[in-house]
Amino acid sequence: MKVSVDRSLCYGSAECAHRAPAVFAFEDGYGVVRPGAAQAADDPRTREAVREAAEKCPSQAIAVTEREG
Ligand code: SF4
Repeated sequence: MKVSVDRSLCYGSAECAHRAPAVFAFEDGYGVVRPGAAQAADDPRTREAVREAAEKCPSQAIAVTEREG
């Protein structure tokens, strides 16, 4: 799973950091992807939380790419 936040779209609601704190942090008023997010997303519950964070991000700033296979 590859996760990114488009800072030009993010308006800093911090919801991603609340939904999936293992993967997102809130820094300087923006949601950011933590270093090591890919490893954290190996956990199925974390993956689900990341998908939900992307879906519910009010500015659609989160992109999630599922790895094939
Ligand atoms: S949920 Fe979306 S708008 Fe809110 S901080 Fe995260 S990326 Fe930014």
